[in-house]
Amino acid sequence: MRRVHRARWVLPIAQPPIRDGWVATEDQAIVGLGGPHTCPADGAGEQILDAAILPGLVNAHTHLELSWMRGQVAPAPNMPGWVERLMALRRTVGHEPPLPIVDAIAEARASGTTLLGDITNTLAAYAPLADSQMSAAVFRELLGFNVSDSGGVVATVRAQVEKRPPVAWLRPSIVPHAPYSVSPELLDAIAAAQSNRPVSIHLAESAEEIEFLQCGTGAWRTLLSALRVWNDSWSPPGCSPVDYIEQHGLLNERLVAVHCVQLGDAELRKLANAGATVVTCPRSNRWTGAGRAPVERFYASGVRVAVGTDSLASVEDLSVFSELALMRELAPSVPPRALLESATMHGAAALGFGDELGTIEAGKRAELIAVLVPDGVDDVEEYLVSGITADRIQWLA
Ligand SMILES: [Zn+2]
Repeated sequence: MRRVHRARWVLPIAQPPIRDGWVATEDQAIVGLGGPHTCPADGAGEQILDAAILPGLVNAHTHLELSWMRGQVAPAPNMPGWVERLMALRRTVGHEPPLPIVDAIAEARASGTTLLGDITNTLAAYAPLADSQMSAAVFRELLGFNVSDSGGVVATVRAQVEKRPPVAWLRPSIVPHAPYSVSPELLDAIAAAQSNRPVSIHLAESAEEIEFLQCGTGAWRTLLSALRVWNDSWSPPGCSPVDYIEQHGLLNERLVAVHCVQLGDAELRKLANAGATVVTCPRSNRWTGAGRAPVERFYASGVRVAVGTDSLASVEDLSVFSELALMRELAPSVPPRALLESATMHGAAALGFGDELGTIEAGKRAELIAVLVPDGVDDVEEYLVSGITADRIQWLA
């Protein structure tokens, strides 16, 4: 059925906001949009909203399977200390409880999210995602610093992924965890195994990672030794995280570089020149002790920026609107429009869904939200990055 949604504001993202706009949908697709002086052909099923219509948001980095840890891993002054707390807690369970995953997906949906970049070590969220309306880039993540048969490890995991029933809106790929937790050989094997899907990696999250790659010392080295996975034949590359992953074939337009808290301007420009994406998760960075996300420098570098919440182990909720509010606070010079592009269009493109989601354009999927806008709001973009709560959000049928 064809429907026409009229609203005080329409934010197509691919073009500036339209005052008193409309969006027409049919069979779950967008078929048209316009302003007050253009007339939709058919007003059947019309509704008028005192709201802003925008595309469903994209949370480009989370770990649904950690949802059971909500509120159980206290903030720490530095990231290795936080990771130790998380690992100790994870060892207390034999598998990831499914109910918190189901609840987290529902909560993300209620807060306006239509697409996730979901990191998984166990595929525990695959079935709950398949049962939901949430689209996802499913990043099956590998760790292994002392692995004897890297190609075999990748082949085994690939077979495990391919055993899952294919779901049109779930797109799996095999990805590395981070430069300090994956051996050079395993990085190479993962890079060699890719098709055209995006590849996520936690990059330059902590100062300890920079030290580890430069000198081979510090807290990450200590942790690898404590876990008995240290490899005596490894020697530090003596370079930055960006140069390191470039040496291992991962620096390209499909790279989804998560966090990047510790990168300098030259490295950010290098990511930009490669067409890669930085996913910023500033609330998580604050919680884990990784540091203050340099959001203004991300945008100044010209790199494509997307937004992630990270997992419920290091953030209060999975709301992209909450993340946007902190980004606005950390980066007052970045226009709200750029932040909204990151939370929609850039996230969708980074996760390989740019042709279907992320903007309001004819032919894309009609996964649209309406955000109630109070009287007296003139700058709707500024309003939308001020911390929108779920009670102000409605999905358009
Ligand atoms: Zn993460």
